[in-house]
Amino acid sequence: MSSLVERDQQVVWHPYAPPSASPLFAVERASGVRLVLDDGRELIDGMSSWWSTIHGYRHPHIEAALVAQIEKLPHVMFGGLTHEGAIRLCERLVERAPTGLSRVFLSDSGSVAVEIAIKMALQFWQSRGQPGRTRLLTLRGGYHGDTFGAMAVCDPVTGMHTLFERVLARHVFAPRPERRFGEACTDADFAPIEALVRENEASLAGVILEPIVQGAGGMWFYSADVLKRLRALCDELGLLLVADEIATGFGRTGRYFACEHANVSPDILCVGKALTGGTMTMAATLASEDVARAMGEGEPGVFMHGPTFMGNPLACAAANASLDLLEDGSWQGRVARIEAQLADELEACRTLPAVKDVRCLGAIGVVELHAPVDMSVVQPAFVEEGVWIRPFGELVYTMPPFVTEPEDVREITRAIHAVVSRIA
Ligand SMILES: *Cc1c(COP(=O)(O)O)cnc(C)c1O
Repeated sequence: MSSLVERDQQVVWHPYAPPSASPLFAVERASGVRLVLDDGRELIDGMSSWWSTIHGYRHPHIEAALVAQIEKLPHVMFGGLTHEGAIRLCERLVERAPTGLSRVFLSDSGSVAVEIAIKMALQFWQSRGQPGRTRLLTLRGGYHGDTFGAMAVCDPVTGMHTLFERVLARHVFAPRPERRFGEACTDADFAPIEALVRENEASLAGVILEPIVQGAGGMWFYSADVLKRLRALCDELGLLLVADEIATGFGRTGRYFACEHANVSPDILCVGKALTGGTMTMAATLASEDVARAMGEGEPGVFMHGPTFMGNPLACAAANASLDLLEDGSWQGRVARIEAQLADELEACRTLPAVKDVRCLGAIGVVELHAPVDMSVVQPAFVEEGVWIRPFGELVYTMPPFVTEPEDVREITRAIHAVVSRIA
């Protein structure tokens, strides 16, 4: 019998990988913040399985909710039928989200939640008798998912638009805001973004962005002023503001939603990733009453979308359990403590020759290098150090589960320093 990795390499495809992914490690189980590989090695998870496992693996409260749900109703179609878990989840999302968002459309992944948001924005203008408003303005350096609609609003360079340029929708790309989080943004700083919005206003449905933290497109934290100014500009011109909080939602940046850093409410909000605490695949798109009402007016009088697994009861149970765990607010202290520790301990990386920048916000720590890492060297090196860190291009970053104890955060920062210091 060949090893799991060898068997995998015969038939399995991995994200952003050639048909036979390498290097590759087989995970047997996980608990708390630790992954256990099939050879028995334990790794501290510095990635929260891509922002999602905020409470760690196998949290007993989420597990109990899943077990209870599986014995009652694991799945049922959502067309014409409903169930308590979905109702309760949507009530709670509306209650917790920035004010003004009052309707929830459930789906099964982040990219789909973004597709739905884009569809809603376009259908909104259709129903208003302005079908020519089909474009979105977005910020360079963004990431919104891998499906065609979402890909079209990702950064045109890192999102590899050249590969699909003949079929992708053409949107408007404003420069990445260079003012960092915590810095003020002057009229002059904002002018290039504002000019693009005004120039293209007649064909725009709205603005789509990741508030405050741009994730996979560059791990960049920008000034909250930019978000405030964009909200004001959208209000002035009647454009919709779509906030993609798939990575930032549920506490990751130190606030429940990153929009709260700027005290703004979007017209449409996408959540995903940590929604179920990383146990089930689920996402949601929230809309304002204005947007929701527009879906019911004009032709066809309904919102044209409906995934097969929409509102899956198991996913709803996991999401409700994850929201329970956030309810006592203790995540706030944990995230603040992780932020302080990451900032303190990653600072030592700044003077390493390979390093261009170090930045931290909430439970996110980023070490940006001058050049992309060689994954065939760096990935096994992190495993040797006993942590799971998955760099991306020139970005070595960590967003550990909120429950990570100080000694484990210490292991993560130690490993990052050790591995990065060996890069020429
Ligand atoms: C991950 C991510 C998506 C896509 O979510 P998937 O579940 O991978 O489809 C969209 N937007 C942002 C900001 C993300 O981080």
